[in-house]
Amino acid sequence: MAETLDSITKDVAAREERLITLRRAFHQRPELSFEERETAAEIARVLREAGWEAREGVGGTGVVGLLRGEAPGEGPGRTLLVRADIDALPLQEESDHPWRSRRDGVMHACGHDGHIAIGLILAELLAARRGEFHGTVKLAFQPAEERIGGALAMLADGVMRDPDVDATLGLHLWTPVPVGQVSVAAGPVFSSADEVFLRVRGRGGHGAMPHLAVDPVVVAAQIVVALQTLVAREISPFHPAVVSFGLVRGGGAFNVIADAVELRGTLRAYSQADRESLRRRVGEVARGVAEAMRAHVGYEILGGCPACVNDAGMAELVRRAAVATVGEANVPGGDQRQAASDDMAYLLEQAPGCYFFVGAGDAARGIDAPHHSPRFDIAEESLAVGLETLARATLDYLRP
Ligand SMILES: [Zn+2]
Ligand SMILES: [Zn+2]
Repeated sequence: MAETLDSITKDVAAREERLITLRRAFHQRPELSFEERETAAEIARVLREAGWEAREGVGGTGVVGLLRGEAPGEGPGRTLLVRADIDALPLQEESDHPWRSRRDGVMHACGHDGHIAIGLILAELLAARRGEFHGTVKLAFQPAEERIGGALAMLADGVMRDPDVDATLGLHLWTPVPVGQVSVAAGPVFSSADEVFLRVRGRGGHGAMPHLAVDPVVVAAQIVVALQTLVAREISPFHPAVVSFGLVRGGGAFNVIADAVELRGTLRAYSQADRESLRRRVGEVARGVAEAMRAHVGYEILGGCPACVNDAGMAELVRRAAVATVGEANVPGGDQRQAASDDMAYLLEQAPGCYFFVGAGDAARGIDAPHHSPRFDIAEESLAVGLETLARATLDYLRP
């Protein structure tokens, strides 16, 4: 077995050039959430060429690849789902790379181009090692992660069934982590995210005669401040959480008291209990404050995504694979939580899994723009690290 694993490094090195070429090709042809038609067609083509079964149109523009191992074993063996998200963002790329986006206003600014390339080369690598594993690998190329919708669409289309999935794996290339490192942890790694909408209704009037009006601007301001106390006073100091309002809209003139004010914000937490508490308490506190000030408030949760919570056993599987790939010193332990969210969370709810981060930043080379920035870039050495870690974890999980 050790011999097999050591040869994986060579296998990955031999495929690195193709891995980078493929990533650059996808980078040049980005497509927005649920519009990934060319991307999906190309994914299906490469999968079939590698000897995989490819199912298209799963969850809209998603593609599912299937490969059964040929190592002898009892029964059909286990099924591992490996997820790669494939969508790009509505951004105008600012880059001098010859492989920069060829599409105006659309850009792979989160690294999903790399995720596609890693998934496809993993498919080729596993096809060549088909005789070394028992069970099934299901590669889920997921649309619309950025809009949080693709994972649910794939679930609705049965991505976890036929064959039933026993465990899940996924990675994100991550520039806040230096290239050469792999960040993996049990428990929560990405926060939940809920978009909330509040409409504060008062009674408009003359700015000089506030006593004849009910001023929703003052009420909204009180609500925003009061809601900050949810994190400060109701969530454990050992549990990070966030309440942020990014949009406040109301009024039309400096001397007129508005009729209504709209607030839109986001709630983040790392445990289901904290998430539920925030979702409920935002409405209760807002209503209480509004009532005390003679106003009314409407409260809606517009959409959300749970936290990504890793299974301890699957995290250990990935940690072993990462250590074999980059060495113990490059797999930092401890708290590896990131303040973002990802709909991989829904897949992790269905089967025990691990979502991990592959370092892709390199400040010395100026590769340090944040994800979703028009200057976003990855250190491409990260691709081989991600591929090798995933390949090792997959073969380990389906070891005969
Ligand atoms: Zn993103
Ligand atoms: Zn992303």
